Amino acid sequence: MAKLTILEFPDPRLRKKAVPVEAVDDELRALIDDMFETMYAAPGIGLAATQVDVHRRLLVADVSADKEHPHVFINPEILEKDGVTVTEEGCLSVPGYFEEVKRAEHIRVRYLDRDGRECEDEFEGLLAVCVQHEIDHLDGKLFVDYLSEAKRSRIRKKLEKERRHHSAAVVI
Ligand code: ZN
Repeated sequence: MAKLTILEFPDPRLRKKAVPVEAVDDELRALIDDMFETMYAAPGIGLAATQVDVHRRLLVADVSADKEHPHVFINPEILEKDGVTVTEEGCLSVPGYFEEVKRAEHIRVRYLDRDGRECEDEFEGLLAVCVQHEIDHLDGKLFVDYLSEAKRSRIRKKLEKERRHHSAAVVI
């Protein structure tokens, strides 16, 4: 297993739309394992393949307190949504920022699991929010897109500035 590099806003690669996974094979499962390792180490509760510069429709999540309830969603598709919930969200690709985002409270999702079996399940609460956030990543969308243009540009400028300082420190 290996820890992967997480792309950070405003990296243009986060805007790519992921394509469907064609085969659920050992190569994909190795990527899934690396994504879990990366997500747990970050630490985060969800990670989309887009965030590690792999533009295929795949995401992992674990919203449990004991970190022993991993979920894998391959080619996820939201079939139904209902209710409204507001959550203060953060994102591993937008480090240090948390903002309230409105999403559906319940969702029904069709996806393939890590063995390639077709599943259809209902989710609610934090896992439902997490899956919606990660599917947005697969479509090239970030949670900051739900904020005002002024707020988003403030976050972008701050992150760009921090990154410049950071890379200067690494060069020395
Ligand atoms: Zn995210």
